[in-house]
Amino acid sequence: MEQIYTIPVNEAFEKGAENQGRGCPFCRLWRTLELHELDLILGASMMEPDVRKKTNEKGFCPDHYGKMMKRGKRLPLSLILQSHLPEIDSALKKPGIAPALAGGESSKGLKKLSESCYICERAEANFAKMIETAAILWETDPDFRYKCAAQPYFCLPHFSRFLSVAKGQMKGKTFGEFYKAVYKKESAVLDTLQDKIDRFAKSFDYRYAKEPWDDAKKAIEDTIPVLCGTDCSDDE
Ligand SMILES: [Zn+2]
Ligand SMILES: [Zn+2]
Repeated sequence: MEQIYTIPVNEAFEKGAENQGRGCPFCRLWRTLELHELDLILGASMMEPDVRKKTNEKGFCPDHYGKMMKRGKRLPLSLILQSHLPEIDSALKKPGIAPALAGGESSKGLKKLSESCYICERAEANFAKMIETAAILWETDPDFRYKCAAQPYFCLPHFSRFLSVAKGQMKGKTFGEFYKAVYKKESAVLDTLQDKIDRFAKSFDYRYAKEPWDDAKKAIEDTIPVLCGTDCSDDE
């Protein structure tokens, strides 16, 4: 197991266990990786020819263009775009004498360009290793099992991915134990949300006006991050 991933994974799970307001530990890890890539691409890496070659080829997703714009580094961003635009121009084939063929090729090439993102791909490569590391830690480090059980929740996209990585890495019996432990955590989270949402929805009905629902006021805000994850943008 690579130490380079063990430390941040352990840290994220420790902080999540200590502070229930931190949400899904994997969302936090993703956010750390993403911030690192944003810093690099608008700073030290921006002028490196091999990096520029990759940003030219891949471009960025709407989310990451938005996050780069928010940082206000307009010169680096304009230079990145300046050399990315010709890549798009070359994927946009001239109709020439076979316009149908050119149109088909453009459709393929532009689809590929619009679906790739330099930041997502770089962050994802490390993130995949972090999920693998979390599954290894669960298997080998009893302390990590406690940390895992003490998380506020795992968002569903990361929970399902954690399950699938663990299933691929663990022997059947160990995976069964792992599943029992994480199921306990996640099903309790869902039960709490269901209760909050039920009481929140009921609060609109005058017949239940006297029932207590103060802790359910943020039922919607509490539920959606568990379903979709959160990009923790407020941290910036
Ligand atoms: Zn998550
Ligand atoms: Zn992206």
